[in-house]
Amino acid sequence: MSKLKDKVAIVTGASKGIGAGIARRLAADGATVIVNYVSSKDDADKVVADIEAAGGKALAVGADVTNKTEVEWLIRAAIDSFGRLDILVNNSGIYQFAKIEDTTEELYRKQFDLNVLGPLLVTAAATPHMRKGASIINISSFVTRVLPVESAIYTGSKGAIDAITGVLSRELGPKGIRVNAVNPGLIETDGTHTAGVIGSDFQTWNESQTPLGRIGQVQDIAPIVSYLASDDAGWVTGERILGSGGMR
Ligand code: NAP
Repeated sequence: MSKLKDKVAIVTGASKGIGAGIARRLAADGATVIVNYVSSKDDADKVVADIEAAGGKALAVGADVTNKTEVEWLIRAAIDSFGRLDILVNNSGIYQFAKIEDTTEELYRKQFDLNVLGPLLVTAAATPHMRKGASIINISSFVTRVLPVESAIYTGSKGAIDAITGVLSRELGPKGIRVNAVNPGLIETDGTHTAGVIGSDFQTWNESQTPLGRIGQVQDIAPIVSYLASDDAGWVTGERILGSGGMR
């Protein structure tokens, strides 16, 4: 399949989890992919090696998406290496649930910096290089529909992403740039393993509330992103696609 042939994509936080799955899928569908990471260089190199072994093209670029200077390097790497930028997937993110009484500045700043400031900085630096037909996909979360208890900061940060997606679809629409969000349900990833979510009561609760009867895998989300990145979605902007097996 080559529906993304000749397109260049940046996927933030693509060394692991959902981002790595998206990077692999966009490359399999024909895009050249910048695999962004912040600390896991070996994991990012492995994603690049897998893509190349499958006949695709990719480049690992380290950059902290909350740092404006590093974000500028990231965008420059795409333009200098491949001469264009067609697809941006704002995926890097962090989740840490806490009771409202346990709110701290640190919990707030960590999650809002990475989940909200990061996508804003990357999008701001990317859009001057994007042309008619370009696509931005923000990875939000089903939490903005489900509103789980003890998630006020995380859900607040993803609610901001849903709203920003809508605003930017209007602001960038006249330039022919589409902006959409994908809102995954609970997905088995490095992050959800590390956070202790996998195997927890939260997983059991998710399974019991999900019409399709299971939690998601990275492969459930990547094709949705690839569709939104492609010209097949040329008339779709400002949408939020819930990829949650029907949990809402
Ligand atoms: P993950 O496995 O923890 O991976 C996080 C990725 O983000 C890693 O590649 C990490 O890079 C990168 N990252 C962290 N800080 C960064 C920074 N400052 N700059 C650039 N990259 C950074 O996460 P995940 O579970 O796949 O989640 C990915 C996205 O999906 C997040 O936005 C999350 O909110 C959203 N989401 C996840 C779920 C779920 O159940 N997993 C559900 C709904 C939505 P390093 O490895 O280099 O640190």
